Amino acid sequence: MCITSQQAEGNTVKIEIDEEKCCGAGQCVMAAPEVFDQREEDGLVLVLDAAPPQSQYEAVRQAAKLCPTAVIRVAEDD
Ligand code: SF4
Repeated sequence: MCITSQQAEGNTVKIEIDEEKCCGAGQCVMAAPEVFDQREEDGLVLVLDAAPPQSQYEAVRQAAKLCPTAVIRVAEDD
């Protein structure tokens, strides 16, 4: 489990990934290439930016929606 978070303009976004269930489909990388990548050795997800800027939040939400195994969870607090 990988947990990242950022506080920006009073808004906190927390990304949780269950790496064990990642199937390496790469949808997250296509949706948010500045935040996600895939490991060269097995293609599983890598979080590139542990504290992405607010401009990436929508892309991160899209990645979570597109992930075929639904292993990306985005929790937001005001
Ligand atoms: S979209 Fe989901 S299953 Fe595919 S690489 Fe990203 S986290 Fe893994």
